[in-house]
Amino acid sequence: MAQNGTTANGVVEEIQTHPLPLPVKVSNIRHTKIFIDNKWLPSTRGRTFPTFNPATGVKICDVEEADIDDVDKAVEAAKAAGQRGSPWRRMDASSRGRLLHKLADLVERDRLLLATLETLDTGKPFLQSFFIDLDGSIKTLRYYAGWADKIHGKSMHVDENFMCLTKHEPVGICGAIIPWNFPLLMFMWKIAPALSCGNTVVIKPAEQTPLTALHIGSLIKEAGFPPGVVNIIPGFGPTAGAAIASHMDINKVAFTGSTEVGQLIQEAAAKSNLKRVTLELGGKNPCIVFADCDLQLAVEETQKGAFYNQGQCCTAASRVFVEESIYEEFVQKSIEEAKKIVIGDPLDPQTSHGPQIDREQFGKIMDLIDSGRKEGARLECGGASVADKGLFIQPTIFSGVRDHMRIAKEEIFGPVQCIFSFKSQQEAVERANSLQYGLVSAIFTKSMDRALAVSAALETGTVWINCYNALHAQTPFGGYKMSGSGRELGEYALAEYTEVKAVTIKLTESL
Ligand code: NAP
Ligand code: MG
Repeated sequence: MAQNGTTANGVVEEIQTHPLPLPVKVSNIRHTKIFIDNKWLPSTRGRTFPTFNPATGVKICDVEEADIDDVDKAVEAAKAAGQRGSPWRRMDASSRGRLLHKLADLVERDRLLLATLETLDTGKPFLQSFFIDLDGSIKTLRYYAGWADKIHGKSMHVDENFMCLTKHEPVGICGAIIPWNFPLLMFMWKIAPALSCGNTVVIKPAEQTPLTALHIGSLIKEAGFPPGVVNIIPGFGPTAGAAIASHMDINKVAFTGSTEVGQLIQEAAAKSNLKRVTLELGGKNPCIVFADCDLQLAVEETQKGAFYNQGQCCTAASRVFVEESIYEEFVQKSIEEAKKIVIGDPLDPQTSHGPQIDREQFGKIMDLIDSGRKEGARLECGGASVADKGLFIQPTIFSGVRDHMRIAKEEIFGPVQCIFSFKSQQEAVERANSLQYGLVSAIFTKSMDRALAVSAALETGTVWINCYNALHAQTPFGGYKMSGSGRELGEYALAEYTEVKAVTIKLTESL
């Protein structure tokens, strides 16, 4: 962390106006059981699984492992909570909003503890947990708290003297399956719109990172949500996750994770009850850097995009196309910038780069770095693990990357920036669009005409112009092509969590 309050690869400007927060001491983890019906339950099959601190490899604690039977219990609780006449169904929409605000208040109260737990479980730098993940979580809750009593239908006088009223009703029981890279934020992206619209939820955190989700369970109870409205199922994908995807009484499933598992979820939904599916999957996200850009800004933003959260982002800026005339200068400046990154203990506020999540991901990333070398890309910096520190990988830059290489096509999910060169705008757009992914893209240029023309041509759900990773609760997020389907966040997400009912009335007098 630099003195001026910005991290080398992640902007944390608020530090300038806040006293520096510090992690709290966590001597024992209070919430390690399955959360169903506002109660803490042991695993039906009597099993637990460990969760580790990826910075040290040391076990943090054991967590009760949910399986199919526990998912069934959670669904029963959610069904009872959401049935007609239940307190949750009868509650005023404005009271639902108040409950979401209350939950946001409690998250703010426990912010230091939650940021510490998030860092212990994921290895992400503490200040990033504290400022970025917690801020995003709180803002998501408050944004959807505001929507709760503003979700209305329409009234239409239709042909042949009928009046039609549309009502936006809850979908019912919403399943959610989330990944380990942003455990708390993804939890909020799923539950906040679902609850705002009056649904009930059964959610599975990733097995690597169950701790903040479980702490939120205690806050959901404290806030006063009726039992069964939110149920949290720590467990594994092929068991608890698959049980959610194929459950006959779950009406919708929202998933964030790999494209391969996204395909399994959609298949399971189709083969069970045709539940609605929203998918937020991988990306191989292109940035196009034109010669007329603010070069320093482009270097910093594309690098933040590549290395933020140790590169473990679906939005990672992993293909940076730079116009030929500024290519060498861009590469040199990127190397200088990468050298400012501070690798170390994620609980230390000086640290801006932590470990990868687990040994499997670490191995996958090192294998891809190796393939880059072998296929002839130029390794400009990094490329190795950090000596004596298990899961840390140096921020790595490859220049001279060609489109056929594995590092140019596969999602790396690690701190690897691949820099390509291009000659013409048309060529850059075609290469940017050439993969099956279509999550996000970015354009760096001072010409707004050019930026808007290129943004129209890019096949991605998000286009950032002269910025990167600019995510907001108000802005819809989701992918084109194999990066997903449906949208999260913003007003658009409300449609994913409501059924529209048309009530048509025959009028006997003309209006
Ligand atoms: P993943 O397998 O897709 O995991 C995401 C979630 O899906 C986890 O909760 C996982 O449970 C669950 N899951 C796994 N198999 C399932 C199944 N058959 N049915 C239902 N749920 C299932 O991702 P990963 O293995 O953690 O990471 C692998 C790759 O996925 C990464 O290298 C990266 O490319 C991509 N990824 C993308 C994102 C993203 O934000 N889009 C996030 C994480 C990973 P478990 O806890 O048991 O795994
Ligand atoms: Mg862990």
